[in-house]
Amino acid sequence: MATGKINVSVDNIFPLIKKFLYSDHEIFLRELISNATDATLKLKHLTSIGEAKVEYGNPHIEVKIDKKKKELRILDQGIGMTEAEVKKYINEVAFSGAEEFLDKYKDAGKDAGIIGHFGLGFYSAFMVADKVEIITKSFKDEPAVHWSCDGSPEFTLKKAKKEDRGTEIILHIADDEKDFLEEFKIRELLKKYNKFMPIPIKFGTRTETLPKPEGAKEDEPAPTKEVDDIINNPNPAWTKKPTDLNDEDYASFYRELYPMQFEEPLFNIHLNVDYPFNLTGILYFPKLTNDLNIQKDRIQLYQNQVFVTDNVEGIVPEFLTMLRGVIDSPDIPLNVSRSYLQADGAVKKISSYITKKVADKLNSLFKNNRDDFEKKWNDIKVVIEYGMLSEEKFFEKAEKFALYPTVNNDYFTFEELENKIKDNQTDKDDKLVILYASDLEAQHSYIESAKEKGYEVLLLDSPIVPHLLQKLETSKEKIAFARVDADHIDNLIKKEDASISKLTDEEKDKLKEQIEGVVGEKSQFTVQLEAMDSTAQPFVITEPEFMRRMKDMQQTGGGGMFGMGNMPDMFNLIVNTNHELVGEILTTKTAKKRERLINQSLDLARLSKGLLKGEELTNFINRSYEMIK
Ligand code: ADP
Repeated sequence: MATGKINVSVDNIFPLIKKFLYSDHEIFLRELISNATDATLKLKHLTSIGEAKVEYGNPHIEVKIDKKKKELRILDQGIGMTEAEVKKYINEVAFSGAEEFLDKYKDAGKDAGIIGHFGLGFYSAFMVADKVEIITKSFKDEPAVHWSCDGSPEFTLKKAKKEDRGTEIILHIADDEKDFLEEFKIRELLKKYNKFMPIPIKFGTRTETLPKPEGAKEDEPAPTKEVDDIINNPNPAWTKKPTDLNDEDYASFYRELYPMQFEEPLFNIHLNVDYPFNLTGILYFPKLTNDLNIQKDRIQLYQNQVFVTDNVEGIVPEFLTMLRGVIDSPDIPLNVSRSYLQADGAVKKISSYITKKVADKLNSLFKNNRDDFEKKWNDIKVVIEYGMLSEEKFFEKAEKFALYPTVNNDYFTFEELENKIKDNQTDKDDKLVILYASDLEAQHSYIESAKEKGYEVLLLDSPIVPHLLQKLETSKEKIAFARVDADHIDNLIKKEDASISKLTDEEKDKLKEQIEGVVGEKSQFTVQLEAMDSTAQPFVITEPEFMRRMKDMQQTGGGGMFGMGNMPDMFNLIVNTNHELVGEILTTKTAKKRERLINQSLDLARLSKGLLKGEELTNFINRSYEMIK
């Protein structure tokens, strides 16, 4: 038997390991299974090139727990190690790797982010064990060895009896880590980190129900048998060629990824590049609601089929973090902080590749089956609109497939919309005015007035629309968006032939005074006299576009003017001087009747804007009953 001292500069590295990686203790299992997988894949390679003259067979990895002995074992049938290799790889390589890792970890400090996800390797075993043993036999014709270390830099090394090829790692689980002796805990970790690793992983057995033998009686129970419980799918869909997969394969892989999701995804995008970086994966567009905050099932990041994290921030462009699926790339540096990650050239390339692939897919869906794309629009628009706002490249590409639905359920691209409305909706200053509504019910009367003029009205109701409109207005020439209730319809799109007022200037002054006298008390309204069609409504309440949009923008976060969110709402009361009723207000002899006409008209205008509530609504209703008696 040999003993020795591992050569390290830090006196005792293990307390450090415990201290720095406190929250990440569970990763030891992933690290050890990764080693077992690597050892198996190395053997596969060596046998395939004829360098290892042994039978590769159907190797698997096994995880076992013995609660009584407080042991957790990981067994593989891979290349194993000779005595010289244990000395080199375990005593030297693994140790210096652990040291280097901890150095980086300390420097990264609080900004650690993704660091800690990878790199500690074999020595992470000491995060949960106070003694670790390795019994290993190389595929080469050399005796097996038994290495043992109790967490100090001293180790022992002796010959072992093991006959079959491979490595067995025995962890003597520390008292304060007893969780890792629980079957459910280990199963949960295996499912989390190793669900798609390339070598089958056995953990215990499970009972399988067999078909009943022919002629079995009704009440006879079906026979069962105990089979190995293999917890992983070694060949997940993303490792296959897109041409080898059909719709059902993609759908069933989605269910495998997210067993708790019952809604089918809308469509998927298969990612596959090997130059200038390696990346594979499948992204799914789920049905999204307008609520941007709820996001439980996220994109999962893998490296060579080993789960790393489901926080892909910094790797995938932000607007695509709303999607689901997997990406697998060995080229994403993981032992660095998030901020470093975002500045990394390879990661930037990956991010823009993904953006491009998503845009291309959307474009082909639009081109190949526009009807279907229109049907899905409501479920995917949030991602697209958000992408248009946040990624310039995507904005340019989205020009081809971004849709603008109308209140009549027609869907236009921007170009189609422009052509459709340019004759009727260009104002006297040559500006194209695009009308929109955000709520079919609440803005009904305004939508109707616009329709009467033959105008198209878009229905834009996602929460980020105000930001998007702002962006469209600045990136295109001579266009303006206006919500249908932003002004009176004749003012929204001002044409040359402004109607002539029936009233003289003195009459107008008098009318304004009269109305302000009554409205004055409830003065959230600015009174504005306008000469409009005599058939247009006498009183209309409007909400100027600019202020309202700024407020909306502030509410959905950023972009708006500072402090706007706290401003009171601003409303204009537009009075149509050409309407018969307004003429009557002016000429009525008694103040009482005038007041009643003004109040009732004002309340009707408020009603149609959804502003009449509470006591004032009750009064209005009572007053109206009185009138119809
Ligand atoms: P890494 O895997 O990143 O190289 P580790 O500290 O995990 O670092 O392991 C160090 C080395 O020990 C490995 O590179 C490998 O040569 C050897 N090793 C670890 N586990 C096994 C195993 N199960 N079978 C064979 N060799 C192993």
